[in-house]
Amino acid sequence: MSRKTIILPKGKRARGGSPWIFSNEIRMDEAAKAIAPGTVINVRGDDGRAFGTGYFNPKSLIAVRLLAEECDVVIDAEFFAARLTRALALRDAVYDRPFYRLFHAEGDGVPGLVIDRFDDTLTVQIGTAGMEKQQTAILMALDKVLKPKNVILRGDAPNRALEGLDSYVKTARGEAKRIAVEENGVRYIADLQEGQKTGWYYDQRDNRAFIARLAKGKSVLDAYSYTGGFGIAAAKAGAKEVVCLDSSAPALALAEESARANSVTIQAVKADVFEELERLKKAGETFDIVLTDPPPFVKSKKDLEPGAKAYRKLARLAADVTAPGGFLSIASCSHNIPPERFAVECGQGLLRAGRRAALIHQSGAGVDHPVHPLLPESAYLKSLVYALD
Ligand code: SAH
Repeated sequence: MSRKTIILPKGKRARGGSPWIFSNEIRMDEAAKAIAPGTVINVRGDDGRAFGTGYFNPKSLIAVRLLAEECDVVIDAEFFAARLTRALALRDAVYDRPFYRLFHAEGDGVPGLVIDRFDDTLTVQIGTAGMEKQQTAILMALDKVLKPKNVILRGDAPNRALEGLDSYVKTARGEAKRIAVEENGVRYIADLQEGQKTGWYYDQRDNRAFIARLAKGKSVLDAYSYTGGFGIAAAKAGAKEVVCLDSSAPALALAEESARANSVTIQAVKADVFEELERLKKAGETFDIVLTDPPPFVKSKKDLEPGAKAYRKLARLAADVTAPGGFLSIASCSHNIPPERFAVECGQGLLRAGRRAALIHQSGAGVDHPVHPLLPESAYLKSLVYALD
């Protein structure tokens, strides 16, 4: 096999089983730099030791992402079909309806590949040059394992630029745009072409179910609601009033449509969350349950301090509009803030709001978002629920 080899020189290599190898860990000589982004390579030590099969991008900080622990593993439709079959078996063991994240990158053994399943429709997110090269093999594997009716390629994640990739949304099989998502017995409508990310955030499924358990007879503020994942679940569970707050008009329009599909009522408010929380506080308005699920405040390591401050402020402002005896949920989808730091910032925010609180629920994403055991930072979602005095 004329496969190229990337060398991990001894003193430099930090690899402790992580599927990522950084550009400063490898021998980045002229031969390596000349390898086309996304090429499948072997990784060996300078002593010849095999580190595995991966794909390489000389332009990326994460230079190698490993696909297998052995060298010379053939990466083709059969390889992807085997990984998909394993991922599908895990979901089949947990979910009784075909609505879930079918494939979660490193956690399912293929860095750069994320697939969400909405019954016979799939959205595929390819995040790296290596996976872009394998698009045909991946689609063949999907046809073999699942025979999906519709496949949408969401090649529009902003981090693709780091890999030198362009941005596109394409339909690879069939045709689908707006579809129904079933989750926790609630029916939502998602826009798979124009919605954010893959069109739906499956990661919060279990946390939505937890909030629904608290919601009967309560007033609920769903801040950063997107298409109403939490709010509609709360309304369906018997909340007496639900406000969905988001800056995206299309997301709120879908939330209203989903509410009608479940014969419940929500109030959609288009506003900036920080501004609206300040306004509600001034107006003296409170809610029995306040939940906040913001976009990542810590987008990269250098944003840690300002991002941490933003979480603290959000916790304070959200506590200000939580009724006495109410519940407050704060989530973070930033993998760049460690869970302990996030919890401290939220705790400090509650303290500054002058509220005594008990942390009653801590969780992350659901089972359909498995984490590679040696890549703990891929467990990006953190969710904390407090009971306030
Ligand atoms: N809770 C949602 C997911 C939230 S994603 C669910 O369960 O599906 C984050 C949301 O925050 C997006 O919908 C985005 O439009 C919204 N957003 C981002 N910045 C905002 C801001 N400053 N004010 C209000 N909403 C904002």
